[in-house]
This record gives sequence, structure tokens and C-alpha cells, in this order.
Amino acid sequence: MDLKNGALTKQQLVDLLGSSDPQVLKELFARACQLRQEIQGKKIFAYGFVYFTTFCRNDCNFCYYRKSNPIERYRKTSEEILSISQELIDSGVNLIDLTMGEDPVYHEEAFDSVVGIIQTIKDQYDTPVMISPGVVEPETIQRMADAGADWYALYQETHNRQLFKTLRKEQDYDERMNAKLYARNQGMCIEEGLLAGVGETDEDIAESLLVMGQIGARQVRVMSFVPQQGSPMEGCQTPDRLKELKIIALLRILYPHALIPASLDVDGIGGLKERIGAGANLITSIIPPRSGLMGVAQNTMDVDDGGRTVEEAARILGEMGLRMASREEYKAFLWGKEEVQS
Ligand code: SF4
Repeated sequence: MDLKNGALTKQQLVDLLGSSDPQVLKELFARACQLRQEIQGKKIFAYGFVYFTTFCRNDCNFCYYRKSNPIERYRKTSEEILSISQELIDSGVNLIDLTMGEDPVYHEEAFDSVVGIIQTIKDQYDTPVMISPGVVEPETIQRMADAGADWYALYQETHNRQLFKTLRKEQDYDERMNAKLYARNQGMCIEEGLLAGVGETDEDIAESLLVMGQIGARQVRVMSFVPQQGSPMEGCQTPDRLKELKIIALLRILYPHALIPASLDVDGIGGLKERIGAGANLITSIIPPRSGLMGVAQNTMDVDDGGRTVEEAARILGEMGLRMASREEYKAFLWGKEEVQS
């Protein structure tokens, strides 16, 4: 199979996802890293993660924060959110990812405070913003776009409608997809994502990889499922990480210019090297220590001991002959103005 030609068919994707041939895998990861190198040199991007409310009206079967799970929750104030964002920006992240559960309190206030936070980060801190609010009304998306949000992140997790129904209980596949498409049509960049190891087949994954391109997602992420205490899927196994790594590499080959995360939220900082080595070009889920914030799949792993910081990630990138990009380099990459590969 010619990996130089990125136009892989669905069957070729399925074959590669199922391959355990060491030579094939070696070529796959090498090609993915080569493509990243050709496009952005040694630069790797990094996003600060601000999961500002863990309240949610939904009951996704895979999620720790589902409304039926009797856990301790928090909702940060606007001042706290801005202070954490500033701390992350000062530490060197390229973007602030404002993430929330579908918290009814924010729906009741029509997202006024979230819109205000976006505006402050954009206007006063001069930093790109990703907003991950779950499914919201078109008018709300529009207000977030008008406030300057660059990205709208919303994950189907699977593009198999039957599987979607079992994962995202009582939620509508099309409503979720349409919210994303609406944001894209308003000029926002969109991120799509899938979860690996939730009962999908390799055909389902191949379909997801193709759909991600068809909908024009500029950031495409895969995360391995991690069983969550108190959830209906608590007893399910976490998958072998090789599948996630293969998906990262295939995404890079299919979409050489895409932002593809190496998420610290699955295996903490210890999982960074292998994901970058599979072709990821972006580190996500950087969280300041002792901020009282949590991750999504790994709630506390590496957070308070400072493992999920720019400093620590930069040290590991250095060992790989790579480096952290500056905010200006990220903006140039995002808006197509980068010139020098270094
Ligand atoms: S995945 Fe998101 S929408 Fe679903 S229960 Fe968890 S926080 Fe809520």
C-alpha cells in the first residue's frame, strides 16, 4: 500500500487498523511523522484546558460526570476561570480550551458569562479560544463566534448511529452534528472526535475517519476509552493503545494539515511521547497544578503534581528533538500565514 498517497480508501483504512505487521506499523508511524515535519518542522502546539463546570444534564454511559453519578462537582466563577486562563497563557499555551458539561445553570443564563469570558480572553489576553459547551442553540453559537471564539469542539465519539444511541443516551445524533456544522458555517473552526474501545468495529473507525474530513473538521481527535467509576461502562476494558496510535497516524496521513491532539487526558504525561511519535502535532489537556480543575477521562492523573504543564511537556519534546510553538506561530498556522519551517 502506498502511504505517500494520502487518499486511502475505506478498505485500506480497515486493513491498516487491523494490521499487526511490525514493518507496516513502522512505515505508518514514520510516514505520519514525516508529513508533520514537512508541514510544521519541529514545532508542536499546546492547549490549556479549563474544565470550568462538571455539572451536566446528560447521562452519557461512558462518562464520569454523567448526571446520575453521585460525585462531587464544581462550578468555577468567571474570576477563577479568567485567572486560571491567564496562568496557562503565562506558562506558554497557544490557546485556551474552555470546556464544560452541559450545565443547566449556564443554559438558564443564556451563556452570558461564558460569552463575556471568551471576549476577555480574546480582547485582553490576545489568545485564541476553543469553546466546548456541548450542544447549544444556533444563537448561542453565533454569540460565541461574535465574541471571538475561534473553535467549536463537539464530539460524536462514533459515527455509527446505533452505537451513538447506546453511548449518548437520549441524545440526538443529528442535533449534535448540526450544531457543529452550523458553527463551521459561521466561520468557526470545528473539532470532531471519536472514542476508541467503546464497542466499535474497524469499519466504524474507518467511517469516522472519512466523515471527519467530509465535515471539514480542522482538528480531529481520538482518545482511548477509560472506564469511569460509577458509570454503566465501569466494568469495560480500556483498549490496547496501539489502536489509538494507529488512528492518530492515519488521521495525519489523510489530513496532513489537521490539528491532531496527543491528549494527556488518557495516560497522563507518560503517554505523550508515543502519541507525538504517531504523528500528533498538538498537546491537549494542559492543566495548572492545584487549580482545583479536573480532567475528563483521567480526572486527577498528573494534575496536582505538575505533570500536565507546558514545562514538563517541553522537556519531553526536547528529548524528541522537537519544541513547543509560540502563540504567534500557532496563530500563523491556524490562519495560514506561516512561512518558515523550523
Ligand atoms: S460526555 Fe459530556 S455531555 Fe456526556 S455526560 Fe459527560 S459531560 Fe455530560
